[in-house]
This record gives sequence, C-alpha cells and structure tokens, in this order.
Amino acid sequence: MSDIFWKKVLSDLEVSVSRPNFVTWLKPTNFVENRNGLIIIAVPNPYAKNWLEKNIVKDLKRICKEEFDDFEDIRFEVMHKEAANAYDELPILKQVEEEEKEIEAEEGVPNSFHSRYTFDTFVVGNNNRLAFAAAQVVADKPGEAYNPLFLYGGVGLGKTHLMHAIANEVLRKAPKKKIIYTSCETFTSEFIDALKTNTMTAFKKKYRTADMFLVDDIQFLSNKEGTQEEFFHTFNMLHQNNRQIVVTSDRVPKEINDLEDRLTSRFGWGMIADIQAPNFENRMAILQSKAQERGIEVPVEALEYIAQTITSNVRELEGSLIKLMAAAEVEGETITREYAKRTLKDLIKTNGSVVTTKQIIGKVAEYFSVEVNDIMGKSRVKELVYPRQVVMYLLRNRLGHTLPQIGDEMGGKDHTTVMHSVEKITKARKVDSSVENDLQVIEKMFI
Ligand code: ADP
Ligand code: MG
Repeated sequence: MSDIFWKKVLSDLEVSVSRPNFVTWLKPTNFVENRNGLIIIAVPNPYAKNWLEKNIVKDLKRICKEEFDDFEDIRFEVMHKEAANAYDELPILKQVEEEEKEIEAEEGVPNSFHSRYTFDTFVVGNNNRLAFAAAQVVADKPGEAYNPLFLYGGVGLGKTHLMHAIANEVLRKAPKKKIIYTSCETFTSEFIDALKTNTMTAFKKKYRTADMFLVDDIQFLSNKEGTQEEFFHTFNMLHQNNRQIVVTSDRVPKEINDLEDRLTSRFGWGMIADIQAPNFENRMAILQSKAQERGIEVPVEALEYIAQTITSNVRELEGSLIKLMAAAEVEGETITREYAKRTLKDLIKTNGSVVTTKQIIGKVAEYFSVEVNDIMGKSRVKELVYPRQVVMYLLRNRLGHTLPQIGDEMGGKDHTTVMHSVEKITKARKVDSSVENDLQVIEKMFI
C-alpha cells in the first residue's frame, strides 16, 4: 500500500522538478516503512540524501501529512553504500549517461516522439537557420511546400531533434494524424522480417497509409538493394498522395554510397537543407538556453570555457554542461571558469586545456608550410593571405575572440579587416570543398 503511495508521490514530483534532477535523485528512492509516524525513505547515496533534504523535503512533509494521520517526520536513509567520492564513480554521472542512452534507444523506436524535442527548445543560429525554417514550414503545411524535406549534417547537430519537432507540432494541431517515424535501420529490419514471415502485405500497408513518413539516418540505405526498392515504392505512393516525407542523413544524397539514382533524384525534388557545426556564438547560445531550461545560473566565463573546449557536437556540449551543473550541485560549489576547467577535465576526458592563439597560428602555419612570422606579417601574396584569413576565422569561431582582440593578436590589424576575413572563410567553407577540407584537417590537428 505504501509502495503505491510512494510511486504516486514520485509521479507528482516528476512534473515539478527537472528531468535530470528527477532521474538522478528521486527515481532511485524507495519507501521503507512508517515507523510510528516516522517515514523512512531509502536513498542510494549521501549525495541524494543531501539533495533531497535541501530541495524537496518541505513538499514531501506536506504530502505525507495528508497521507498518514500519525505523521511526525520524514527521514532519508542511505541504503546502498557503494557511493564513492571519486568522480568516476559518482552515481549521478552514471545516471546522466543512462538517461542519454535511454534517449538514444528511444530514437529508433517508431512513433515515440520526445516531448523535449520541439521547435521551442531548438536554438536557431546561422548554422541551422534554413533547416529550422524548412522544418517549420513542413510542420505547418505538410505535403504542400517541400516534399520531401531532406535534412543533412554531422552527428549530434540536431537532425533528429528537428524531425521530432515536426512530429510534435503536427500532432499538437492534429492529434489523430498517423505519423510514422522510423530509423532507416528499423525500416530495414522490419522489411527483412516481413519477407521471412510472409507478412509483406501488412508491412506495406503500415508504411503506405501514413499521413507523414519520417525516416532518420537514411545513409544506412547504402548497399541495401532490396530495402531501397521497397523504400522507393513507399516513397512514390506517399508522394503521389501528397503525404509529407522527411528524411535525415549525415551527408547529401549523391554522397551516399550505392544509392540508386532514382532515389537520389527523388530526394532532390523537395528541399535539401544542411545543418552546419555550430560556431562559437551558436555554441554559447545553445549553452545559455540549456542552462536556462534547467533553471540554473551558470556564469558566462564558465560557459565560454565549455564552448571553447567542445567545438563540434551539440550533444557533447549539452552533456558537459549537465555534468558540470550536477557536480557543482553535489559539491555545493559555485561554478566558475576555474571550477569548470577542473571538473570537466575529469569528466570529459579531454586534457582540459583550451587551444591557445599561439597554437592556432602554429598549426595553420604548419599545415600550409609557411612561416609564423609571414602569417603575422603584411605581405599580400596569395600564399599568405589565405592562411592568415584561416587563422582569423579560427580565432573567432573556435575561441570566440572579439574582432578587435583578433586584430591585436594578428599584430595590429583593423577590426574591419578581421571581419572581412572571417566572413570570407565562412562563405568559402560552404561553397568550396577544398576550403572545407583544409579546415577539417586543421581542426583535427587540435585534438
Ligand atoms: P543528430 O540527430 O543530428 O545526430 P540530435 O538531434 O540527436 O542530433 O541532437 C543531439 C542533441 O543535441 C539533442 O539533445 C538535441 O536536443 C541537441 N541539439 C542539437 N542541436 C540543437 C539546437 N540547435 N538547439 C538545441 N538543442 C540542440
Ligand atoms: Mg539522429
């Protein structure tokens, strides 16, 4: 009976505390007994006890008073002693990691949409503006504007987030719509199962009657002829009936190995929109939004440290911030840049150091086989101008230095010169694959 009571308490609290806090501190608790009015709750470690006593005990007392006539007090007892001080073993981290895994596992599951993946929680920047806008149009007028919508970009840049956001938005307005969401891998294995078990009719019906068809990570169609064929027919059927199709991929259609031409060309019928890696400002905006979402104030200098250290993947960016916030909470510390540096060094297994200006200039010089002094100098020969612009671009996008600051670092350049250089490389990167390639190689040199 009291067990059920506790489950109910937890589900009530679940809506009023943030998800990571709930998963970390409340979910692992259990009701033990009512000892003459003293309610005993089992908690897994002293950190949980601390957190609960600090944050939730008032609410709990109120709830217990209503439930138990003889209520006197509530006590949290640590029942599993394995909690250790070492960060590696800090249970909160394991739980945060488990939560991440849960989310990943859910991603491939047909028709389960993350409530957190909405347009509202998506931070828009110049790296993803087109994809975001296209996704909104599609959610607004499915099947009418861009069909299919093809979103592509690197790992952890928000493709799945946008796809779920489309579904969430459509379902908000039309809850009865049949939206089929699947990963390319699930589609493939269901197709193979259907072949084996002679259930092709059911398989076809399921997919071909969708109002909206969302397929995540389509690059895995590569080399799967049979599945491609089936996908092709599904695509045609849905498209003819003006049903919206959205696909994501880590690359453009023509770069997917062994993708049939007829599919490549169909993917180009609607809109192909890319999501680029976030630059420094985008990363800061994302961190600020995530900290706000979780109601925790993190000083800008600490966020800057994270944005300077984690440069490519939004999932890692977010994960580092959560870990940092959790660690600070457990240790009762205020977050500073120093604290972030010290803590994240242990938590994310980087060497914790931010690339320096000197290193950036040195690596770029090395890559282009030119002298550091020449990069810093004033010569306008092409062989030097381009590397110099790359340095300025990296100082801006990797380290977030201001334009005047970069001017100084480059030996006294005007900030408009710096701005021009940064813009030039930003644009070139998009249209010139040799520039993109240079930058990718150089960025790898910092790892
Ligand atoms: P992908 O599918 O491209 O690999 P995901 O959509 O799974 O990436 O995104 C990874 C994580 O980063 C998710 O938690 C997602 O919410 C978050 N994320 C990515 N881009 C953004 C963004 N622009 N704004 C807010 N969160 C983002
Ligand atoms: Mg994804």
